[in-house]
Amino acid sequence: MSIYQIQTKYRDEFRPRFGLMRSREFIMKDAYSFDVDVKGLEESYQNMYDTYTRIFNRFHLKFVPVLADTGAIGGNGSHQFMALSEYGESDIIYCEECGYAADQEKAETKPDTYRNDEAELPKEVVATPCEGTIEDLAKFLNCSPKDIAKSVLYRDLAHKQLVLVLVRGDREVNEIKIVNALDCAEFELVLASDEDLKTLGTSAGFMGPIGLNVDKILVDEELVSQKNFFVGANKKDFHIKNVNYGRDFTGEVAQFRKSVAGDLCKECGKPVKMERGIEVGQIFKLGTKYSEPMKCTYTDDDGTNKPMVMGCYGIGVTRTMSAIIDQYHDDFGIKWPLNVAPYHAVVVPVNYKDETQKNVANDLYKKLLDLHVEVVLDDRDERPGFKFKDWELIGLPFMVIVGKRAAEGIVEFKDRATLEKKEVTIEEAVKLINEAVKSI
Ligand SMILES: [Zn+2]
Repeated sequence: MSIYQIQTKYRDEFRPRFGLMRSREFIMKDAYSFDVDVKGLEESYQNMYDTYTRIFNRFHLKFVPVLADTGAIGGNGSHQFMALSEYGESDIIYCEECGYAADQEKAETKPDTYRNDEAELPKEVVATPCEGTIEDLAKFLNCSPKDIAKSVLYRDLAHKQLVLVLVRGDREVNEIKIVNALDCAEFELVLASDEDLKTLGTSAGFMGPIGLNVDKILVDEELVSQKNFFVGANKKDFHIKNVNYGRDFTGEVAQFRKSVAGDLCKECGKPVKMERGIEVGQIFKLGTKYSEPMKCTYTDDDGTNKPMVMGCYGIGVTRTMSAIIDQYHDDFGIKWPLNVAPYHAVVVPVNYKDETQKNVANDLYKKLLDLHVEVVLDDRDERPGFKFKDWELIGLPFMVIVGKRAAEGIVEFKDRATLEKKEVTIEEAVKLINEAVKSI
């Protein structure tokens, strides 16, 4: 059993966690699947994955489907369809070698093996009268930022606990991975306050895991095998040298760092790439997360009521349109791919007041309409340059300019994508457009 309820509607952004988009209205396409078991859900999910892939291919979008965090919607599996764009709101980590792809929140890469094979040295307190960034401290210590473990203190509001997170000095903390490890919501994870630091008896810039009375320590896996790094001594102007995980402190270990380009792929070991992307679609395996509490059940063969196994699927129509424009434009305006263009072609008479030009333009317009080409006639009384600029901006794939040679049956045909112009007969112009449209 599989029922798809597909609806197109105006509504707020699908995922409220994209705060920047929350207040505006967007067009979303939503779909849901309801199956009797997980096997059915897997089939529905794969079907939608394939369908979305075909849809975005037909839009001519350069995109990658990536493993995604399920975020506020929940469930136990998700893919995002990310259109590549430098204006994108999220980072995508992907491997060209094996096809692995995930958004930054979910991405996993192999831990670096930096200084893994050294012998553990005795630890030592060193004076570091140096306030500033990790880079400043590394300069002062005459070492690499990689030799320092960065300590960040968070307050988990859900469980009312203080959590210290450690990553290598050149790395960034992946807060989504922290949220998932703590099982709290994103808004429930906040940076600890100066008051918290004071209560713990530590000092910003000199914080470390040794002797700090926090509820939990989360350690990025890279620091587990790295030897002899620096940590803060929890005392202003001091750090501890030659610190080693296991011997000097312990904690919960996982990947808590953000992956970056050049990190090694977890699947095949080759360096990964990173690009920004616009999320144009997302699919989720919801399971019974909503059907159980909402008592959305079916009667099984054995007569008992069981919760339906759900999936949900969305395409951000507005976002898809902006992603297409981002990938298909030049200095003059939009270059719509033919099969998503609002109209296929425009007929522009240079002077619509000229009887011949007017008749040829009207005739051409009608011929194209009869062939089911979606066409616009620019019958405005404007200067030609003004009209051409407008149509370059709007970016319909084809423009036919009806000018002085209209009386001889000659018009100008212009391809918006390449900006190439050529003189053709009226019949040829109709044929060129008709053939292109028929091939969609
Ligand atoms: Zn790979």
